[in-house]
Amino acid sequence: MYADVQLFIDGEWKAGAQARTIDVVNPATEEVIGTVAHAEVADLEAAVSAAQAGFDTWKRVNAYDRANILRRAASLLRERSENIARLMTIEQGKPLAEAKGEVMSAADLIDWFADEGRRAYGRMVPSRIPGSYQLVIKEPVGPVAAFSPWNFPINQAVRKLSAALAAGCSIIVKAPEETPAAPAALIRAFADAGVPRGVINLVYGVPAEISEYLVPHPAIRKISFTGSTPVGKHLAELAGRHMKKATMELGGHGPVLVCEDADIDTAAAQLGAFKLRNAGQVCTSPTRFLVARGVFKPFVEKLVAAMSKVRVGDGLADGVTMGPLANARRLRAMQTLVDDAQTCGGTVHMGGKRIGERGYFFEPTVICEVPHHARIMTEEPFGPVAVVNAFDSLDEMIDEANRLPYGLCAFAYTRSAKQAHRIAAEVETGMLTINQIAIAFPEVPFGGVKDSGYGSEGGAEAIDAYLNLKYVSQLDI
Ligand code: NAD
Repeated sequence: MYADVQLFIDGEWKAGAQARTIDVVNPATEEVIGTVAHAEVADLEAAVSAAQAGFDTWKRVNAYDRANILRRAASLLRERSENIARLMTIEQGKPLAEAKGEVMSAADLIDWFADEGRRAYGRMVPSRIPGSYQLVIKEPVGPVAAFSPWNFPINQAVRKLSAALAAGCSIIVKAPEETPAAPAALIRAFADAGVPRGVINLVYGVPAEISEYLVPHPAIRKISFTGSTPVGKHLAELAGRHMKKATMELGGHGPVLVCEDADIDTAAAQLGAFKLRNAGQVCTSPTRFLVARGVFKPFVEKLVAAMSKVRVGDGLADGVTMGPLANARRLRAMQTLVDDAQTCGGTVHMGGKRIGERGYFFEPTVICEVPHHARIMTEEPFGPVAVVNAFDSLDEMIDEANRLPYGLCAFAYTRSAKQAHRIAAEVETGMLTINQIAIAFPEVPFGGVKDSGYGSEGGAEAIDAYLNLKYVSQLDI
């Protein structure tokens, strides 16, 4: 069922110029399941030329017609969701139900941006000069270079694709080499829906070679990247040097503030499930649990109980709720961080080890009382590990939440409106969810502050990232 994945350039699926390929591995079995085409510089040149010509076509298609094509792509995705979800599970590892949910939510996101494109109004500003008009016009920025990662093979790409297309931009997507088939299926849905040739292009290869070529290229007018903070900083620097607009959705180290008056049953149940979603390989994953000392012990017990409910296994198997890690790098990283936390004095209450010897499975893990000098207290774990520490006051929890340079997503549980307001005012984060987990809907902002990046990939602001403002003043004579 896993067909080899090709590049998509100027409306055609093709091999790379030198026919080189990269193996794709199923993380649940470690077997090679297929290959993905490797782009050469000649392919990137062709993709840029196609994107330039595609932009010339697409910017002239009115917003109403663009929206109809996008809505058709969303319908195709829904129709094909079962097959696409299977592809995603065998290349990325997540359970089938999560993969299906990702495809369906991508369709919702496309629908939302389709309509948002129709509402990308400019404005008329009253003039000081009689007989004069002052218009503020929104225009698409031009061809976009988008870099999307392997943890959400469709959802990270679709945020960039649908906002860019709704705004009238063309796009070259550098999708993840480790999980290439799901994003290719997404792009096929857009192409089948009637997006003209050249408007969407898809490449894979060596990420650094592709970004070094595309980011400085004069035809590319906007960069969007989702991935780690070090790579994001490098690409932001490159974009800055060439005066390109950029959106950076980078790493986090999600603090969770569990106050003394919290409903700890609800907190533990919600956080336990959310922690293990996608085996913890989520930029908004809760990671540092900062718990009031008075409820620390019962909270840890309830969190362990909630996380014990998970069934780890091959994502294709019935009843499995957590798959393997997506690659061997994450498995090594988990073991290193957990071992280091223990050496530094942390206590493992649950898990802490690889499961079996085949497949990149790691136990759901809870470690308590981990000191600041442990690596996991500063490095994003990006895996199924929760660190839980006790605190004596809300002041200390807020200081700890803000200690790291990250500011992507934070969580809080309290019954006090006063404490909730204080947390909302003082925690440095792009997203905060209190007494519930409610993030990443199409209509709300999605993005971070500090080293977690800039720009939003959700809400009305997301489409503005693909639009330039033009001021026109005209005197009728
Ligand atoms: P990595 O830092 O090598 O790569 C992260 C992503 O950036 C990958 O998708 C990769 O293809 C891409 N990339 C790397 N170098 C690039 C370059 N020079 N130009 C363009 N793209 C480039 O690490 P990794 O092992 O793939 O992932 C590890 C870390 O990345 C995780 O610990 C996590 O912090 C972060 N990450 C974050 C997200 C997110 O949703 N924000 C997604 C995936 C990975």
